[in-house]
Amino acid sequence: VRDFVEILVIGDELLSGETCDTNSHWLDGALESIGWQVARHTTVPDHLEAIAAAFEEAARRVPLVISSGGLGPTGDDLTMAGLARAMGVSLYRDQGVLESIRQRFARFQREMTPNNEQQAMIPEGAEVLENQVGTAPGIAARLLGAEVYLLPGVPREVRWLFEHRIRPRIDRQRAAMVRRTLKVIGVGESRLEHEIREVIAAHPAVRWGFRTLGMENHVKLAAPPEAIAALDAAEAAVRATLGPKLYGAGTDTVEQVVGRALRARRETLALAESCTGGLIGKRLTDVPGASAYLLGGVLAYANEVKVGALGVDPQLIERHGAVSGEVAAAMAAGARERLGATWAISATGIAGPDGGSPEKPVGLVYIGRAGPQGAEAKELRLPGDRAAIREITASAALDWLRQELAG
Ligand code: ATP
Repeated sequence: VRDFVEILVIGDELLSGETCDTNSHWLDGALESIGWQVARHTTVPDHLEAIAAAFEEAARRVPLVISSGGLGPTGDDLTMAGLARAMGVSLYRDQGVLESIRQRFARFQREMTPNNEQQAMIPEGAEVLENQVGTAPGIAARLLGAEVYLLPGVPREVRWLFEHRIRPRIDRQRAAMVRRTLKVIGVGESRLEHEIREVIAAHPAVRWGFRTLGMENHVKLAAPPEAIAALDAAEAAVRATLGPKLYGAGTDTVEQVVGRALRARRETLALAESCTGGLIGKRLTDVPGASAYLLGGVLAYANEVKVGALGVDPQLIERHGAVSGEVAAAMAAGARERLGATWAISATGIAGPDGGSPEKPVGLVYIGRAGPQGAEAKELRLPGDRAAIREITASAALDWLRQELAG
């Protein structure tokens, strides 16, 4: 097992919705890359007792504690005093730190105010870590047998001090965990876990996780570098079990995978979008080089455009409604024919919040797919708000084409 580390971030602004704690996020990656396992993040208000208690509790649990914030010159910067209280020592004025603060002010021709001297108040027995990119130094100390490091709040200073002053002292010289991500669309996480339960049971050296993103679900595999053979075997077993349900891995997106398949087959694609309003086209053209396979599309929102620009039979719309499988298939067939593409996909649905009815509720969507063998449609009943329904529809339509191209 890896050694555990806890991160404390200190500041009222991190608890009031003003500032997003990006320092913990950055430290997570930096610590993991040198062999530590982050066990906990704690966010603490600018309150002396709360800060002292947070240091003490963390130091009882783990051998390494890193804090950020509250080293500034103002009355709400209490991290030094909080650590001193937890250590049971007093603060002393460090002449070296005071001198470097003076020099920094002189260099930038700014006048020092008396409260700036607070940044030179250091817990007895602590070690000063010189900060070349800011006023507040970092601090190294011991508390209850744990190593404790204090960093300022400014993200640039956190990164500099970590890289130059802390990393060399705590580097465990162990490579980061190796991670793999395998991605599916339209298979829920509970079903996904159920389908690969035997693979999971057979690979206990691998840490398994699941993540949901809209219509996508990701299987996450992680293992230390020494267990990479087990990781490879587990990944191969997941791939074999899920087969064509898997659309990609790592940083793949479904629009990239569709693009790669079309390019390899030297085939082209056209679009007919109603409820997605161009989102499918937007996602496909996010991929550089999409002009090699994407011909274009028709944003057919109004019925007249479905009829006039895509050649949808008005009687189909009258009989089944614009939101129907018949119209979705006809839209795809029309786009394919009018644009002269190998394939076409379409989407028509009720994205809400208005426009639903008992027979056709919000979230009812039809996607269409047309190719050399003809056109067909698929019904989806989607949860979520307008934005989610449109995003999921685009993913589903792209994945439906991907499955056809893969099969
Ligand atoms: P300074 O000497 O600049 O006052 P400090 O140690 O007192 O440094 P804070 O006053 O707590 O740090 O924060 C300084 C700046 O850094 C603020 O702009 C704050 O929003 C930002 N900051 C503080 N903590 C974090 C964090 N965890 N993630 C991202 N930004 C943060």
